[in-house]
Amino acid sequence: MSKERNFIPDIIVGSPGRINFIGGHTDYNNGFVLPAAIDKEIKFEFSKNDTEHICNIYSKNYGKSLVVDLRAIKPSKENWENYVLGVLHQLLKRSNRVKGFDCVITSELPIGSGLSSSAALECGFAFGINKLFELNISKLEIAKLSRDAEHEYVGTKCGIMDQYASVFGEKDKVLFLDCKSLDYELIPMNLSDYKVLILNTNVEHNLSTSNYNQRREQCEQGVRIIKEKYPRINSLRDVDFETLENVKENFPEVIYQRCLYIVQENERVQNAAKFLTKNDLKNFGKLLYECHEGLRYQYEISCKELDFLVDFSKEKDYVLGARMMGGGFGGCTVNLIQSEHVDQYVNEISKAYNDRFNITLDAFLVAPSQGTHQKTIHKKKEYDE
Ligand code: ADP
Ligand code: MG
Repeated sequence: MSKERNFIPDIIVGSPGRINFIGGHTDYNNGFVLPAAIDKEIKFEFSKNDTEHICNIYSKNYGKSLVVDLRAIKPSKENWENYVLGVLHQLLKRSNRVKGFDCVITSELPIGSGLSSSAALECGFAFGINKLFELNISKLEIAKLSRDAEHEYVGTKCGIMDQYASVFGEKDKVLFLDCKSLDYELIPMNLSDYKVLILNTNVEHNLSTSNYNQRREQCEQGVRIIKEKYPRINSLRDVDFETLENVKENFPEVIYQRCLYIVQENERVQNAAKFLTKNDLKNFGKLLYECHEGLRYQYEISCKELDFLVDFSKEKDYVLGARMMGGGFGGCTVNLIQSEHVDQYVNEISKAYNDRFNITLDAFLVAPSQGTHQKTIHKKKEYDE
């Protein structure tokens, strides 16, 4: 029997996760990335609650609620709360029109797996409050303030890619984003008889945030070394192979490898965008493999479970390319695979993965989809359970 809920929202927002085909860790180096919003999202049901300052926020997945007084926003010890508190802090800096509201958050995204549930959470939350109180904040500003929220309240010094993809994604399109100028091009993705398969290792080696921030610092250290000879260089985005070679002797080997990876990866992303424009998925896929090797051996943020999945796929000619995604040390791989082989491949790789690690693999297909958006409220019946 269905049961009507007593909470009828004023607005509903859908905010998608994202995949990144290529451009691993280039975003915070002002480089190029090639992400897409996906057809898995976080849903937000917002209602004004007629109070001046009190917000009730409930995460259904966590079964946890949070009561916020808008007059006293500060970081919390609960990690998930910092995503929403950080966004509220940013919004209140920009507007005095935010008042009390209730918000129910329901997610179909795996959490902490490299599909950027964090950006989906920040951007959807910001987008919804912007609509609810008519704050007139632009989409670009929503992406930027969401990133700033993650920096200041969560403590992950992420680039802009995740928020950008979540906000600006479009159906059947991939974003070719220049993280320096923030110019982007939407490249149509015609997958024809291929699919985008996500394999979730279901491991999260507890190193991600510290290693993420450390990699960022190592890149900055590299820039400082290069600057001694080339003062006009401000980020690895502006470094070419010749410049790097000319200062190689000044580099500790590890820092050199990190920087070389970024310079190579920026070139790969630009080539991948060209292949995608020509609909050359074969050469596009090869670059995904190269990217993974770089992340594994030069940037050193992969792990044995991710490497196993990518190595396994290389033996199959119906997989055009695969690589790890996201911050590293666990999470998902993205795979470009011929449609007719998906079921049998998922069975085979799941068994092999389980035999090797005694862990169940999650597998699902995704497609490039619409970015953060308001959903139409059709009729009351939709909210029956
Ligand atoms: P990813 O962005 O790849 O999923 P992150 O570690 O960057 O991984 O972000 C995951 C964090 O985002 C979670 O640990 C949690 O704090 C927050 N989060 C994501 N989805 C939800 C949700 N539905 N409810 C509450 N918090 C969430
Ligand atoms: Mg994240």
